[in-house]
Amino acid sequence: MNIKTWVPSTLVVLALAITSVGIAQAKSEDSVTVYSSRKEHLIKPLFESFTKDTGIKVAYLTGKGGALIERLKLEGNNTKADMFMTVDAGNLWYAATQDLFQAVQTQTLKRNIPSHLRDPKGLWTGLSVRARTIVYSTERVNPTDLSTYENLADVKWSGRLCLRTSKKIYTKSLVASMIYHQGKNKVGDIISGWVDNLAATPNAKDSHIMNAIVAGQCDVGLVNTYYFGRLIAKNPNVPLKLFWANQDTTGVHVNVSGAGVTKYATNTKGAIKLLEWLSSVKAQAIYASLNKEYPANQNVASDEVVSSWGSFKQDKMNLAQTGVLQADAVKLMQIQGYR
Ligand code: FE
Repeated sequence: MNIKTWVPSTLVVLALAITSVGIAQAKSEDSVTVYSSRKEHLIKPLFESFTKDTGIKVAYLTGKGGALIERLKLEGNNTKADMFMTVDAGNLWYAATQDLFQAVQTQTLKRNIPSHLRDPKGLWTGLSVRARTIVYSTERVNPTDLSTYENLADVKWSGRLCLRTSKKIYTKSLVASMIYHQGKNKVGDIISGWVDNLAATPNAKDSHIMNAIVAGQCDVGLVNTYYFGRLIAKNPNVPLKLFWANQDTTGVHVNVSGAGVTKYATNTKGAIKLLEWLSSVKAQAIYASLNKEYPANQNVASDEVVSSWGSFKQDKMNLAQTGVLQADAVKLMQIQGYR
């Protein structure tokens, strides 16, 4: 090879390289890929609306949260996912500990979503709020007897309480929040009282708890509010009501469904745009009402049915604590025989 031919051929190679990078960028910038444990019917309408607004397409893959986290770990920097969506801050926190997210702290997210619903480092953001509170039989419970989660350990509820299994993340996060406010010793005693008051072995689903109360097996239980919303949509006359726990103390334990931009996103810019869009007034109204949840953006009103359950004071503990204290919660429940 002499110098005359060497120079132009190098230029050709460089030009090709630049062109192919350009194509790759153009391709990834008009599409975002999301792995989601939220079901398709809850996310598809939003993604379609986002595409209409921005021209950015959204490809998505739905599955169980735990399986998607394992998949993201296995795929590492080869993953196609730009965003991971799941439910419960305990799960989002776990994904963050597995180094699956990158920090995103934009003014838009800070403005739209209250800080207790976001990871302090910006690794994930809450996008819808669910409250975990007391549900009771309107036939057998006088609501003036109800007050707090702690009070369900009182002997007056002996043989009348239904709870979800301790294996469920919702239970772990609630107990973690109680440990945050009251310390392990006190919460150990409360769990011991809960276990003593159980009418039956812990339930596998929130809907089973409500069915058991309707069937007369127990009188009170703890559920995420949207399950109550689904039940009354099917059976408006069901003899159950929600009671807002801990209104004179720490507030109702709230949790989120949320999302984070993946560490190895190929379209970080697009994923941030989607995350910000999901926090917007327009998206929040759709997102929350699809599953009878509360908007995370405080400038958005709840849907009519959800509003009819009344307003409440929510626990403002930063939800990352549900993860930080998760192991303590699990250990306490094991010690106290909460299955
Ligand atoms: Fe759920």
